[in-house]
Amino acid sequence: MSLMITDECINCDVCEPECPNDAISQGAEIYEIDPSKCTECVGHYDEPQCQQVCPVDCIPHDPSHQESQDELHAKYIKMHGSK
Ligand code: SF4
Ligand code: SF4
Repeated sequence: MSLMITDECINCDVCEPECPNDAISQGAEIYEIDPSKCTECVGHYDEPQCQQVCPVDCIPHDPSHQESQDELHAKYIKMHGSK
């Protein structure tokens, strides 16, 4: 499942550099997560790094992008290769 950024975002900029997949970018008004790139940090970290650093806790799971752990791992392999 991808994560999403809600309109509580205060544009503090701290999440963007933490994402190992470059899935976070500044949108028209607030930061956005590209669901095709977000793996919940599977393959890189045990916890979603953006959620860890967000000071206002505005990065929940996106129910419209449901994925299993296997699917998230496959996404990681596709982007970064196997190892
Ligand atoms: S959960 Fe991980 S991969 Fe997804 S947007 Fe946050 S930092 Fe990036
Ligand atoms: S860390 Fe949270 S508040 Fe800061 S830019 Fe990212 S989503 Fe917005």
